Amino acid sequence: MNCPFCSSADTRVVNSRPSDEGSAIRRRRECSVCSRRFTTYERAQFEALMVVKRSGRREAFNPDKLLQKLRIACNKRPITEKQLREFAYTFEDAVQLPEVQAEEIGVQALKFLKSIDDVAYIRFLSVYRDFDSVDRFIEEIKQLGDAP
Ligand SMILES: [Zn+2]
Repeated sequence: MNCPFCSSADTRVVNSRPSDEGSAIRRRRECSVCSRRFTTYERAQFEALMVVKRSGRREAFNPDKLLQKLRIACNKRPITEKQLREFAYTFEDAVQLPEVQAEEIGVQALKFLKSIDDVAYIRFLSVYRDFDSVDRFIEEIKQLGDAP
């Protein structure tokens, strides 16, 4: 931790105590070069992908929930569990955003299924609860029909 005043890397902790009811550690540091004191807070950073529901409510992305929906759509289809897991468990990294609209997860899952199995794709459209627009549903099926 460099000194904010002189940028020296030579600082030491003079005092350390929990803060915010234990969710953070407050540290009082002193710079060995300029002797000024400063405070740092150490707290856990939650980097989980957040899903924004249509209601505006946010919840942490759960790959198992996505995987469950994919499994239902792919039941008895020539798609392996490994393919589904690969998609669900790399989704968070693939998105590279702090949050995503719930519908966008559905759209990405549909693209993924469309590339491997049409039946699973149509099934997913019908089971994906967050995908509530009938117009969008029809539009997707039309697009599928137009595909070469
Ligand atoms: Zn300093």
